Amino acid sequence: MKPLVVTRQFFKDITDLAYPSSCLGCGTPLTDNEKSLCINCLVKLGETGMHKTEPNEITELFFNKTPIIHGCAYYKYIKGGILQRLIHDLKYRGHPEIGILLGSIAAQSIKKSELFSDIDIIIPVPLHPKKLKKRGYNQSEKIAEGLSQVLDIPINTDILIKTYYNETQTKKHRIQRFFNSQNLFCVKYSTEHHSKHYLIVDDVLTTGATLESCINEIKTIPDAKVSVFTLARAMV
Ligand SMILES: [Zn+2]
Repeated sequence: MKPLVVTRQFFKDITDLAYPSSCLGCGTPLTDNEKSLCINCLVKLGETGMHKTEPNEITELFFNKTPIIHGCAYYKYIKGGILQRLIHDLKYRGHPEIGILLGSIAAQSIKKSELFSDIDIIIPVPLHPKKLKKRGYNQSEKIAEGLSQVLDIPINTDILIKTYYNETQTKKHRIQRFFNSQNLFCVKYSTEHHSKHYLIVDDVLTTGATLESCINEIKTIPDAKVSVFTLARAMV
């Protein structure tokens, strides 16, 4: 067996895995004060301002389907932009820290607006256990962690459960997909979960079908109130 040669490069590679030394947005070296993203990329992300304005696009989207108390898609989503790339890295390239980082930055502004000041419990949109095992983490839970740390609101991942694997969903016909989304989630709760205000967290809102399904499930808990947070709103 070859002896393991511990070189300076080896240490750098290991450290980079936990704390990337270059910006995940643009690749420039990070300063000691920057974490994962450089200041230029952070500025370019841009807010939608929805956390300061209601009704907004998100509250209106659900208004006729299943009304929510508060709603916010925080960042502007531009095709080919930094956020799209970051969300791709978060979901498919093993960078859970991006979710925590973006969630906590958003939460710092939201805290000032008091939008989510009466939220009791944060619930990330769950992944099916099979998908969770494959990815290693739930990206929505990472975003929720960032929110939770700054807003000091607990996360619960036991109440809302994904019921079955829908890997081939994108290949199916649109109508078929609609019916599928009706039974994607179920809730498990006890009396301690009654009369709470829940914040459902997702990465990107597209049609809203997944969130609608989650909102409806949470609303089956007696006297539950529901609000929604997503990192971004993708145009369809
Ligand atoms: Zn950058």
